Amino acid sequence: MSYATMWTYPWDVLDEGVEKVVGFLREEVGLDAISLTPVYHTYDQLRLHLPGPRLLSTYEDAVYFQPELACYRQTAIQPEVSPLARDRDPLAIISRQCRARGLKLTLWTIGMHNHLQARRHPDCALQGAFGDPYPGALCPANVQVREYIRALSVELTSRYEVDCIEYESLYYLGWGMFRNHAKVGVDLGRVGRLLLSLCFCPACRQRAAASGVDAGALQAQVQQWLERLFAGGVLGDGLEDFVVAAPLLTAYLQVRAATVTSLVAELRQAIKTPISFLYMGDYLNNGIDTAAIEKLVDQVEILCYGSDPVQARAQAEARRVQMAAPEQLLAGLSAFHPVADAQTLRQVIGAVHAAGVRRFSYYNYGMIPKKHFPWIREALDEVRRHG
Ligand SMILES: [Zn+2]
Repeated sequence: MSYATMWTYPWDVLDEGVEKVVGFLREEVGLDAISLTPVYHTYDQLRLHLPGPRLLSTYEDAVYFQPELACYRQTAIQPEVSPLARDRDPLAIISRQCRARGLKLTLWTIGMHNHLQARRHPDCALQGAFGDPYPGALCPANVQVREYIRALSVELTSRYEVDCIEYESLYYLGWGMFRNHAKVGVDLGRVGRLLLSLCFCPACRQRAAASGVDAGALQAQVQQWLERLFAGGVLGDGLEDFVVAAPLLTAYLQVRAATVTSLVAELRQAIKTPISFLYMGDYLNNGIDTAAIEKLVDQVEILCYGSDPVQARAQAEARRVQMAAPEQLLAGLSAFHPVADAQTLRQVIGAVHAAGVRRFSYYNYGMIPKKHFPWIREALDEVRRHG
């Protein structure tokens, strides 16, 4: 049986009315669940549904619930509470309403993507080959980061009635998580981006050493490669060949992936709630070992955004064929631009359904024009008729 959720921001639910939005999504759109974010990065959102000011901006990554600080007594990183959650607990209010209306609740939880904490705790940030802390991302090898994510996950899943916790960016974020306008004067190519994505923080180096991998030697080599690129040379786009020809790099990538997998395993141990893992990267750039992760979690997600049903189906099939348990797969779908009419929306979900996927998540409540919601209902009704 098909299952549908929708990524949803708490500020949209609160401002439009909790009872109204939850009731609408359950009864009129016909969703089984919403995927609400209790932890989010910064954003500038054009709001489509409400009168008045239309651009909502936040300037710090924050949590959208009221944490009990005792849960973070052992963690160097402390949650930054959004002003939206100072006088009320958005998660408590919305989760109660979901329960009352029979709508399941997934907590869409951002992991490593956190400019604020990376700035406050530069020792917890990704650290490139030249020793620079990267501005937008925490390092999943860092013990303080791991303890914070674990404390957050335990609190969220024990204090609130939750059906699933969904992790976004629970891996190495790679190159390019900038805070400001990027000023990059060379074409890095796939190889350059990979080399710049590598973290050489003390925790990563320690993990490499424990696996018999000489991080210092690799770091020196990566610096040389990058110096050549920065001087005007070319490293090329033949990423897979480049990695195969560099055994130390290959070994470091294995350590990196094992670091991510071990974090997922720790969270699996720490919480009983079903876990969903959102893939937005890959093995080479992000340290995602899909086969290992799928053994630990209950669901994995890919994004089949776009308006081409053939492409969406191919994406879903390509992922399912790699999976030991393809029923674990959820497909993220866009319900707004470039999906511009009811037929396209129906065709895209139909194509993914024909590939065997039965779990869907639409992006994203506050960004979807009102006219599109009945289209989602029709599309969901259609796939549900087919199981
Ligand atoms: Zn690191």
